Amino acid sequence: MKKIAVLGSSGSIGIQTLDFIRKTKNEFKVCGLSVNSNIELLKRQIKEFNPSSVSTGTSEDAEVLKKWCKKNNINTKVYYGIDGLNKIATLKETDLVLFSVVGAVGLEPLLKAIEARKNIAIANKESLVMSGSVIMQIAKEKNVKILPVDSEHSAVFQCIGEEKKEFVKKIILTASGGPFYKSNKKLSNITVEDALKHPTWKMGKKITIDSATLMNKGLEAIEASVLFGVPIEKIEIVIHPQSIVHSMVEFNDGSVIAQLSNPDMTLPIQYALSYPERKKCFIKPLNLAEAGKLEFYKPDFKKFECLKIAYDCAKAGWTMPAVMNAANEIAVKYFLNGKISFDAIPKIVKTITSKHKVIKTKDINKYIKIDKKARFQTVNLIEERYI
Ligand code: MG
Repeated sequence: MKKIAVLGSSGSIGIQTLDFIRKTKNEFKVCGLSVNSNIELLKRQIKEFNPSSVSTGTSEDAEVLKKWCKKNNINTKVYYGIDGLNKIATLKETDLVLFSVVGAVGLEPLLKAIEARKNIAIANKESLVMSGSVIMQIAKEKNVKILPVDSEHSAVFQCIGEEKKEFVKKIILTASGGPFYKSNKKLSNITVEDALKHPTWKMGKKITIDSATLMNKGLEAIEASVLFGVPIEKIEIVIHPQSIVHSMVEFNDGSVIAQLSNPDMTLPIQYALSYPERKKCFIKPLNLAEAGKLEFYKPDFKKFECLKIAYDCAKAGWTMPAVMNAANEIAVKYFLNGKISFDAIPKIVKTITSKHKVIKTKDINKYIKIDKKARFQTVNLIEERYI
């Protein structure tokens, strides 16, 4: 049995991962779980999967959970906060850690897990965007595998295989385009409700907003560059509203290989968990004749400024993507809380990144510091100019 820890078990990917583990019966053992705030769901997950350790966001929630465990004669150890995440990421018995926490909070536990030589299934793109090349270097030194869970990166991984990287001419990431790609609605009038209606994927709130601004695709381009060791210039985006072709790779000889399936995260999650094996999957089989038409368009970098900002920041490299990611996380939070307009998101990210002078460093602590500083600056900017 493969032993697995899931960081972010109450989120969309975390829930789908546990669904998959439940269906496979005796193939996986869950040894650690973490949630930010949904302890009611965590209680149900503890009862079902009996992990040795769990972690919550706050010490208050940890206290509540400890009492509940005692009352129910459950031996699960309860931790909290960033130390708790680090603990769950490095449990002795774990073979593979699935990172599905949202945002930069994933970076520190990710590093701890790699240092403890745990293989990684990564759904937390922000930590790879923040300081991916440093992370990949450490993973290489520790002989740790980082397996992508994002559907596009899983597709690229499946197209390239492990041995053919030097033959890659370019990576073509597909993007659904989000809810506003074809809409004529003014971006300034878009409500939180509009932005949360994704046409093809059901996901968490932060990533759904990122998909609507296309920042998600920008983050994914950086993530692909890091994971596959390909410069950002060789990563292209194509809009594909049906979300059936999950990405493609063009090789030096002009051959293009694509990975297709109905849009369902179960498949990339399952592939990362079962790799290198391919097991029966429980998603609806693809029927191309039924799908009918597959469309592809050029992305609109003018309308979706976040995409352009992400490419510019990737080209600047080093600490710049971390600053961009921090500013974006804060701006999205304010948008979700109804405090700023949809079209303010790229403006805010642009202002913050244009102030940053790139630092060339391999010290991960510097990235963490820069992330904190950029968040602080973004909050100040929004409070001063936008509210
Ligand atoms: Mg994706």
